[in-house]
Amino acid sequence: MATTTLPETEMEVSTSRKNDVKYVYFFGGGKADGNGKMKDVLGGKGAGLAEMTNAALPVPPGFTIQTEACREYMRQNSVSKEVDRQMDEALKQLEQLQGQQLGKGENPLLVSVRSGAKFSMPGMMDTILNLGLNDQSVEALAKRADARFAYDSYRRLIQMFGNVVLEIEKSEFEEVFDAKKKQRKAKLDTDLDAKALKDVIEEYKKVVKKHAKRDFPQDPHEQLVMARDAVFRSWQNDRAKHYRRINNIDDMLGTAVNVQAMVFGNLGETSGTGVGFTRNPAIGTKEFYGEFLLNAQGEDVVSGVRTPVHILELEKIMPAVYNQLRDITTRLEKHYKDMQDFEFTIQDGKLYMLQTRNGKRTGLAAVRVALQMVDEGLITKEEAIFRVEPNQLYDFLVPRLAVGQIVFTADEAVEKAGLGKKASVILVRAETTPEDIHGMEVAAGILTSRGGMTSHAAVVTRGMGKCCVAGAGDIEVNEKSREMRVKGQVFKAGDWISLDGTTGRVIKGQLNTLPPSPDDKELQTFMKWVDPFRKLKVRANADIPRDAIQARAFGAEGIGLCRTEHMFFAEDRIPHMQAMILANNEKDRRTALKKLLPMQRADFAGVFKAMDGYAVTIRTLDPPLHEFLPRREDLMVDIAVLPYADAKQKKSMVEKYKRFGAKGAADLKKVIPTLLRRVEELHEFNPMLGHRGCRLGITYPEITEMQARAIFEAAVTVSKQGVKVYPEVMIPLTATLKEMANQGAIVHRVAAEVFKEKEHKVDYLVGTMIELPRAALVADEIAKEAQFFSFGTNDLTQTTFGFSRDDVNKILPTYLNEGILKQDPFAALDQEGVGQLVEMATERGRKTRPDLKVGICGEHGGEPSSVEFCHRVGLNYVSCSPFRVLTARLAAAQAAAAEQLKVEGGRTK
Ligand code: ADP
Ligand code: MG
Ligand code: MG
Repeated sequence: MATTTLPETEMEVSTSRKNDVKYVYFFGGGKADGNGKMKDVLGGKGAGLAEMTNAALPVPPGFTIQTEACREYMRQNSVSKEVDRQMDEALKQLEQLQGQQLGKGENPLLVSVRSGAKFSMPGMMDTILNLGLNDQSVEALAKRADARFAYDSYRRLIQMFGNVVLEIEKSEFEEVFDAKKKQRKAKLDTDLDAKALKDVIEEYKKVVKKHAKRDFPQDPHEQLVMARDAVFRSWQNDRAKHYRRINNIDDMLGTAVNVQAMVFGNLGETSGTGVGFTRNPAIGTKEFYGEFLLNAQGEDVVSGVRTPVHILELEKIMPAVYNQLRDITTRLEKHYKDMQDFEFTIQDGKLYMLQTRNGKRTGLAAVRVALQMVDEGLITKEEAIFRVEPNQLYDFLVPRLAVGQIVFTADEAVEKAGLGKKASVILVRAETTPEDIHGMEVAAGILTSRGGMTSHAAVVTRGMGKCCVAGAGDIEVNEKSREMRVKGQVFKAGDWISLDGTTGRVIKGQLNTLPPSPDDKELQTFMKWVDPFRKLKVRANADIPRDAIQARAFGAEGIGLCRTEHMFFAEDRIPHMQAMILANNEKDRRTALKKLLPMQRADFAGVFKAMDGYAVTIRTLDPPLHEFLPRREDLMVDIAVLPYADAKQKKSMVEKYKRFGAKGAADLKKVIPTLLRRVEELHEFNPMLGHRGCRLGITYPEITEMQARAIFEAAVTVSKQGVKVYPEVMIPLTATLKEMANQGAIVHRVAAEVFKEKEHKVDYLVGTMIELPRAALVADEIAKEAQFFSFGTNDLTQTTFGFSRDDVNKILPTYLNEGILKQDPFAALDQEGVGQLVEMATERGRKTRPDLKVGICGEHGGEPSSVEFCHRVGLNYVSCSPFRVLTARLAAAQAAAAEQLKVEGGRTK
């Protein structure tokens, strides 16, 4: 809109625009208005139905109401008249094509009303089947087909409509149904006859009247409008919101609605319904994989209510249908060039396709399928690198085993293992429903007694990279008494179990986790394709030689953060550290530091050796000193207790305070109060903003001195042995140029001293961590002294938001629920705010020093969206925990490749 127009003209333009919007897309009779590329508009399901129709596959006809109508509904709580008009037109077209009328006449048309957004959200939104049935049309259906079938379909409609549209609890209907089964002594749903189902329908209508304060709508058109709007509303239900948050899907996209002629899998033993995958989504092998049920309707398979049969059995029961299905799905896979997850229904021996989409898979399967497809010539290597989501590579590093304590409800799982709580739980359910999503998110694994490998539970957990054992027939779950029975043994909430997701085994107790497998051959091949795209280097955060060695195995190209204080917490060192802190003059402090020097030197030497040929960034001491001392409250208690303590108690106190100079019981009277005085001197109201970071090294320069000496002595020693070392000394928490200059001077002086003493030099850099907004603002100044920057985005997030990282969990859940924050800013970098500081500081720093090396070393360094950001703003490297190195490598490659190939990245969401 480059030109300015008069208001009236603009009004006209916008109204005529509105009439131009195509809201409804028809599919049927061999052609569709839309196509497979239109996922934004038609949703994944709608696009798939259009594409399959165009490919002349057997798809029941219907139409898709596009996502814009949903967004309209979100804005105005209703859709525009134009949507209604286009829908009625499409309905007429469908009725003509089918030679039927919606819910009318001797052969009534019945439809499903199905949700379907751009990214698949299995089971998170709603779908209604058999719409169009009412007191008359059910009789017509009974006459044409079978009475039992007709009444069963009608009662399903009332149940689904009652729940989804009229918002009546599912349990209200279940109670009626179960009571009827009990009265008729029926074991299975299918044991109820037509007469019994008729009774159920009457009871259901009463349930509707009682809870919705209205009758079940008899007018088919009214049913359709109400169902459509309810599906639009289901975009905003809690589980859908939750799923979007976990999967980072935009809340504004909206869902499309698909209205489609029903086909019936519940017409008897020559009918059925099923779902499947063109390859194994758990382990990626090339095999036909899926499940079906005879005489059943769609939801029966995916909801996990009945445990289905393996799809290969279909070959024996209906060989022709089986072959046709294999043929179609193979074609679909070739067409989409990706593994497909499909739904089908067989009505009286005739096959219908109801859905196809790129299937969700585990990381293992994702890598294998990508490799196979390149081999088969289906996709290129460039495409292949987008077929795996960076976080999925985690699967190769974390054991395929879940170990945890049993919980029986999703709420309980959240209570025990929710945000910030460390407990590991296994969610055990008879079957999981999409409402359990919040519990599934926090659980280490999921175990269900019903439902198969294609149930919602299995599909969703696979997408989350979690371990799931679904449909373990031997176990019996009683959610009421909170017990699980397995072959005579009883398990209760809190008992430990282990799950093996690949073999489906459930093991009593806490099994040792299997070692990670970064040397997996297929993974290695895949990473060989990935790495050449990458512009960002990937380093690891590692404090000790063991972690550094691990990090190299995962492909780390250096250490971005080696925290020296972690070395001080070790059992043999903390006494010296404490002596150093307790010293109240420089001389005593130096004596203590001297004892620490050789220990630090040995650690650094180990890390340098592990990183032969790569840079190692070592940070000087950062945390507030009191972290190394006993707690003030504990000291006060001991002082109060001391006068009344018996010999035994005194002995244990001597043991405890030995390292602070207590040689015998007589010393305690002096030692503990002295200690308390020092602890009180060091006490700070806000230690995270207190005497820490470079402030320590400035007030006690001998600490920095000792650390620099340890670093350079180690570097020189290993360098003499032929190891290539590149130490980078990093000063934490600077805010001003002078701070940097002060600490930099010490490091340079000590380096020169050591090189002279040892008659050997190594290359090194001195730089700083940028973790205060002020540092970012004056980055051009700081860069005069700093030879590199590393963004400490944990602290930078903390200081930019003013959130305490350790306490944020009190507010974060509310913030996320209310949508005040979209994501935990400590997990995914806040690009809008904190990111601006990163970008600005990089730019300013490089103005002063064009070759300034810049990286990040917070938790964000291994989070894909943050890595992508780092690529975009031109950092040199990201540094993350060793276990996230693979993920960061892939994320960095995808970011660069997407730019190069000018694609958005064909990720499977
Ligand atoms: P979801 O996205 O939760 O899988 P769907 O819209 O795919 O929801 O529908 C739920 C179930 O109902 C699926 O098993 C589907 O195959 C079945 N279904 C949907 N529409 C029809 C139809 N027109 N005829 C027969 N079964 C249908
Ligand atoms: Mg589906
Ligand atoms: Mg910090």
